[in-house]
Amino acid sequence: MTSLQELLLSRIKDVPDYPKPGIVFKDITPLLADSAAFTALTDAFAEICLRQGATKVVGLEARGFILAAPVAVRAGVGFVPVRKAGKLPGATLGQTYALEYGRAEVEIQANALTADDRVLMIDDVLATGGTAEASLELIRRAGAQVTGLAVLMELGFLDGRAKAEAALSGAPLEAL
Ligand code: AMP
Repeated sequence: MTSLQELLLSRIKDVPDYPKPGIVFKDITPLLADSAAFTALTDAFAEICLRQGATKVVGLEARGFILAAPVAVRAGVGFVPVRKAGKLPGATLGQTYALEYGRAEVEIQANALTADDRVLMIDDVLATGGTAEASLELIRRAGAQVTGLAVLMELGFLDGRAKAEAALSGAPLEAL
């Protein structure tokens, strides 16, 4: 394990049975509250952004916003939000996806990206991969090219990687 991984892991708290029984919630608030750890994470994401030549960083509501916005500033590119349905003004594109119980929908503003944009998507946790799959589809429907998906952590036992990689069609998935 690298020293960066050790630092990040030491600042992520496992919270059993939250938000419901059987779920181990990965709480990143200790990491966000630690300037050195948050800066190291931002630098690592920004390095991926620069290496991939991304022109935009997309963050997923809500924790993805917190992680992706400073990456955009650090890398000198724009930030674009993917939000839960009904929160973005103007024309939007929407994508529904399956949850354990029921369905959810994510949206992006229809004019947020252009055909010239190369997009790195960032989120905190890759679990089943459903959110990532739907959001990657939105980025493509908005007309942009996806350069990759970067997450702080993936929950390997849920195999979200397989779903995300299928949606990435060759672009890299990097889990710090
Ligand atoms: P999924 O669509 O199943 O990959 O879920 C991904 C989204 O749900 C991410 O945006 C995470 O913020 C959140 N999430 C899923 N599982 C967890 C977990 N165990 N701890 C913290 N966040 C989670």
